[in-house]
Amino acid sequence: MPPESASPTTSPAYVFRDVGPELFAALQQAHPSRLVLQTPAGLTRNAHELAARLREEVGVPVLLANRACFGACDFPSVTESPRADAVVVLGHAPIPNVALPRPTYFVEMRTDAGDVELLARTVESAGVPRRVGLVFSVQHLDLLAPLRAALERRGFTVEVGSGDRRLAYAGQALGCNYTGAEATVDRVDAFVFVGTGDFHPVGLAFAVDRPVWSLDPLQNRIEPPIDRARRVAQRQLTVATARDAQRWGILVSTFAGQNRMPTALALQERARAHGRSAELLVFERLDPRDLEGRDLDAYVNTACPRIALDDGANYARPILTPPEFLMALGELPLAPYRFDTYH
Ligand code: SF4
Repeated sequence: MPPESASPTTSPAYVFRDVGPELFAALQQAHPSRLVLQTPAGLTRNAHELAARLREEVGVPVLLANRACFGACDFPSVTESPRADAVVVLGHAPIPNVALPRPTYFVEMRTDAGDVELLARTVESAGVPRRVGLVFSVQHLDLLAPLRAALERRGFTVEVGSGDRRLAYAGQALGCNYTGAEATVDRVDAFVFVGTGDFHPVGLAFAVDRPVWSLDPLQNRIEPPIDRARRVAQRQLTVATARDAQRWGILVSTFAGQNRMPTALALQERARAHGRSAELLVFERLDPRDLEGRDLDAYVNTACPRIALDDGANYARPILTPPEFLMALGELPLAPYRFDTYH
């Protein structure tokens, strides 16, 4: 697929650990006339209180971005909040190769490192192989150095990879990008994802052909490896059902960090080369209802890869990722399975 290039003009990104004096001081100094605040689903309940705090500390009006958001890829656009001249995004690190239209304050909501000896003991007791790669969500990245050291004291060989220009930190994962882990895959027998929920570890299991364990550092609980083979087989079945599709829809999001128009155009060419029709369908955030009633047999999604992998069952027709689409056309083999890494 062709590289997706970010716009050459970008406003600055400022990064903070949490909502606190450093963020307030930076905003006071910047003198915005109006802020827009975006909170992820887990913080929606606190959003009003956080907005009130920002209003009080910074002394400017604060708008709340209301739609659901899932990553640093879908921050509020200028069209959504035209009167705000700065954005505060909670819960995400910046994506370095995504251009920002306005100064944007990323508050990563880091958690404290916690008891790494206890966590290392939990990893060891679970029987995780000794050559292990560590992968983190941004909230838990402060654990990287101390947990690595604690595991090495117990005889583990620990790998932490640096990813591509979509990742801000070594050891970090996004649900669409595990290039840090992929860089170390040949040197490890398993990965441990450190964070909460199964969104990131499931993506990691698609991306790397190694057992993926999930360590919840808040509960000190480790989950056994995700059943990669079953998930990959399900995707291969979906690819097989779409193989004879003649009329394709190519889905393109307008979100700044989910727009892969060059990929969409390249896929359209591939479809046509195989005698299939392919229509580009543009949207901001995809809703299954948007595809109802369309005279199309199947879709390939160039927006967030997790729409196809996690939510495909919500759609009446098969939705494939770009590599899966090439499998359906016969340009790529079904195995080894290729994760749709968003670079
Ligand atoms: S594209 Fe999807 S997985 Fe990637 S950062 Fe955005 S929401 Fe997360």
